[in-house]
Formats: sequence, C-alpha cells, structure tokens
Amino acid sequence: MSDCLFCKIIEGEIPSNKIYEDDKIFCFHDIDPQAPVHCLMIPKKHISSIDDVQDEDAEILSYMMLKIKDIAAQLGLQNGYRVVINCGEDGVQTVQHLHLHILGKRKLTWPPG
Ligand code: 5GP
Ligand code: ZN
Repeated sequence: MSDCLFCKIIEGEIPSNKIYEDDKIFCFHDIDPQAPVHCLMIPKKHISSIDDVQDEDAEILSYMMLKIKDIAAQLGLQNGYRVVINCGEDGVQTVQHLHLHILGKRKLTWPPG
C-alpha cells in the first residue's frame, strides 16, 4: 500500500534496523523501544490489523507464529519475552499495518497498562 509506513519500510523507502527478512515477513527494531529488545515482525502482505485478517491469511499468520521462536533465539531472548498485537483505538494501534511486537531482555510487568 503506497501510503503505509511499514510497506515503505519493507520496500526500503524508509530506512530501518533490519533483523530478519524472507519472502513473507520482515523484522526490524522498533524506533522507540519499550524494552532493551523490541522487535517488530510484519507480513510483507499489507494487512491493516488483526481485526482485518481473512481466511486466506491463515498461512501467513501461522508462518509468523512459527517464526517468533527463531527471531527470539536470534535476539538472545532465552530468558523469555512477550509478543503483543495492538488493535484499534482502545488497543492503541498507531500503525495500520499488522505487526507483532517482540519484547524482551527485561522483566515485564503484568497486567500491561
Ligand atoms: P503500535 O502502537 O501500532 O502497536 O506500534 C507501532 C510501533 O511502530 C510503535 O512501537 C512505534 O515506536 C513503531 N514505529 C513507528 N514508526 C516507526 C518507524 O519509522 N520505524 C520503526 N523502526 N518503528 C516505528
Ligand atoms: Zn502496509
């Protein structure tokens, strides 16, 4: 999508600190990290939010779930981590391209704010 920030990051139009990329997903460091490690994992297909997924997205969604542990290992998160998907206004989603946050390297609190 032409006016989407994360699509522009995938295309390299906006620079990012890349962690991992393949034909389906792109992972990069969050510009405003909320933990010592704060990675964003996004599908290369533009999907606006977790509330907008379709049955046809089952494959990419399961692929992302299965990749989390590999990215976590690459980032040295052996002691654990948290995966977050914000959605909509109350979920405080600020970028309208589906993304998983992978946060780690500190003891996270629960419940989140
Ligand atoms: P959301 O609030 O939508 O769940 O998360 C969006 C995330 O994208 C935020 O954590 C924010 O810091 C991050 N972000 C926003 N703009 C940029 C950017 O240009 N580059 C990177 N690397 N992260 C961004
Ligand atoms: Zn997009």
